[in-house]
Amino acid sequence: MPRFTTRTSLIVIVLIGTTVGALMWWRLRAPRPLVDTRALTTAEMWSCAQHPEVRRFEPGLCPVCGRPLELVEAPAGSGPP
Ligand SMILES: [Zn+2]
Repeated sequence: MPRFTTRTSLIVIVLIGTTVGALMWWRLRAPRPLVDTRALTTAEMWSCAQHPEVRRFEPGLCPVCGRPLELVEAPAGSGPP
């Protein structure tokens, strides 16, 4: 039964270190976005019938007139590519 030599252990440690390093590098290369992009990519938006400039990603009340916001669909092509 072969015993693990110091040389074999060194190779294993280097391999593990390389793998962990590559994983960390990969995660750093693709960081999590700071902004919740789900809200930016969703096709649903809520807007006030009286104030179309009011846009929200969730239902609520218009901050201008207090009317309940109505569900509208974002125009095609307005989102990020
Ligand atoms: Zn309004």
